[in-house]
Amino acid sequence: MQELTHWIDGKHVKGGSGRFADVFNPATGEVQAKAPLASKAELDAAVASAAEAQVKWGATNPQRRARVLMELVRLINRDMDKLAEALSREHGKTIPDAKGDVQRGLEVVEFCIGAPHLLKGEFTDSAGPGIDMYSMRQPLGVVAGITPFNFPAMIPMWKFAPALACGNAFILKPSERDPSVPLMLAELLKEAGLPDGLLQVVNGDKEAVDAILDNETIQAIGFVGSTPIAEYIYGRGCSNGKRVQCFGGAKNHMIVMPDADMDQAADALVGAGYGAAGERCMAISVAVPVGEKTADALIEKLVPRIEKLKIAPYTAGADVDYGPLVTGEAKKRVLGLVESGIKQGAKLVVDGRDFSLQGYEDGFFVGPHLFDNVTPEMDIYKQEIFGPVLSQVRAGSYEEALKLAMDNEYGNGTAIFTRDGDTARDFSNRVNVGMIGVNVPIPVPLAYHTFGGWKKSGFGDLNQHGPDAFRFYTRTKTVTSRWPSGLKEGGEFHFKAMD
Ligand code: NAD
Repeated sequence: MQELTHWIDGKHVKGGSGRFADVFNPATGEVQAKAPLASKAELDAAVASAAEAQVKWGATNPQRRARVLMELVRLINRDMDKLAEALSREHGKTIPDAKGDVQRGLEVVEFCIGAPHLLKGEFTDSAGPGIDMYSMRQPLGVVAGITPFNFPAMIPMWKFAPALACGNAFILKPSERDPSVPLMLAELLKEAGLPDGLLQVVNGDKEAVDAILDNETIQAIGFVGSTPIAEYIYGRGCSNGKRVQCFGGAKNHMIVMPDADMDQAADALVGAGYGAAGERCMAISVAVPVGEKTADALIEKLVPRIEKLKIAPYTAGADVDYGPLVTGEAKKRVLGLVESGIKQGAKLVVDGRDFSLQGYEDGFFVGPHLFDNVTPEMDIYKQEIFGPVLSQVRAGSYEEALKLAMDNEYGNGTAIFTRDGDTARDFSNRVNVGMIGVNVPIPVPLAYHTFGGWKKSGFGDLNQHGPDAFRFYTRTKTVTSRWPSGLKEGGEFHFKAMD
C-alpha cells in the first residue's frame, strides 16, 4: 500500500505521528493509500521553518515572485493529464471534470502573475507642505489554508497562489481524503523555482487544524469546507487574533420562470445537479419552477435526461457523466437522506437506490434521484445533501420563489432561468446570495472577480481570489513623510490638519 507523505522544506517527509487516514479508490471501495496525520509538533516545526524562509521571499520583488507562478502555469499545463488522472483516482470525478478542477485553479495562478500591478500602493504627492503620503501592501508572514476534498487542485491553488504572490509563506492542510494532487502541486512549485519552505503541505485531520488555529506565528487562515467546521474555525481563529475567511456549505436554488426555455433549463439542471455526483458547493440542489404548468413541464423534460445519465468510473471513457462519491460514509449519508425524503412525504420521481455497476459493486456509486413536491420543512431541503439528488420545490409565484431562496440559511449561489430581463434584473438585485446566474446554472466567477457566498456559506469580510485575495494576504502600511524646506518648525502637540 502506498504511504503518502507531507511536503516540508522542499521534499517529501514521512509522517511521524503514527496516525494515518485511509485514502480510498472510490470506484472499487478499496483503500489505495494512507495519508499521514500530522501531530501538533510536526505542524509547529513546518511553520517555524516557513517563517525563516518567508523573510527573504517577502523582500523579493513582486515581479520575481510572479515569475515563479508564470513557470508554474507552464508546468501545470505540461502535467495536466497526470494531475487529472491522480485527481480522478482519489476523488472519483471524471477526467474532463478533473481537468476543469485543475484549470479553474490554474486561472487564479495566471491572475496572480499580475502581482506587481495588484500590489502597487497608493501615493499622494504634497499632502501638505513638503509632505507626501503613501500606502503599501506588505505580506502577513506565514498564512495557512485548510481545504476540502471536492476540489483538491482548484482550492489549494486559489489559496497558495495569491498568498505566495503577496510574499507570504503558506501552510496547506489539504483534505485527508485526496491529498495526492496538492503534493504534486508542491513538487511543481519547487520545479518552478519556489525556494524551499515557502509551501509546506501538512496532511492531517482535526489535530493539525487545531494546531494551525493555535499557532502564534500563523497570521491568517483561509478555510473551505462544510459550514459547521467553517463556523468552528472562524470562531477559534478570530479569537486567537488571526485574520480568517471561511467558506462553507450550500443549498443552491435554480428558479425556473414560466417563460424560460424548458429544454435549456432541463439541460442546465441535469449538469448542475448531477455533475461531479453533486459534490460541488455550487451544484444546484433545488429546482424551483414557478407555477404548476412549469413544474410539470420541467419534470417531463428532466426524467428522460436523468435516466440517460452514464454513471461509471472515470476509466470508462469520455462519455461518463459522473462517478462515485468520495467515501462509503458519504454514500451512506446520501442514501439515508433519500430515505428521509420518502418518509417525510416527498415524491421520488427518479429512484436511484438500486443502482449497481457490474464489477464495481463495492464502489461508492449512487444512482441519480429526483424528488418532486419537496417542502422547506423536509430534511432533504434543509440539509446540504452533497450527492446526486435534485429536489423540486413548487412555487406559486415569482415572489414565493424569491422568498424561498432568501429564507434559506445558505447563500452561496443561485440561478434564474427566464427570457425576461426585468425579472432577471430584479432577482439579481434583491436576492441575498453571493453568486448569481442568469440563465447560467453554476455561476462560478472567473479568477479576476471574487468568489464567496453570503449567510452560512461565508464567514469573514473578503472573498476568495480576484483583488480581494491580495487584500486578504497583505496588510496596509501608510507612511507620511515630510522633507521640510526652509526653517525647521518647533514641536506640535495636536493633530495637525493639512493646509
Ligand atoms: P469538511 O468540512 O469535512 O472538511 C474540510 C476541511 O476541514 C478538511 O481539510 C478537513 O480535514 C477539515 N476538518 C474536517 N473536520 C474537522 C474538524 N472536526 N475540525 C477541524 N478540521 C476539520 O468538508 P469536505 O467534506 O471536505 O468538503 C465538502 C464541503 O465543503 C461541503 O459542505 C461543500 O459545500 C463545501 N465547499 C464549499 C465551498 C465554498 O467555496 N463555499 C467550496 C467547496 C466545498
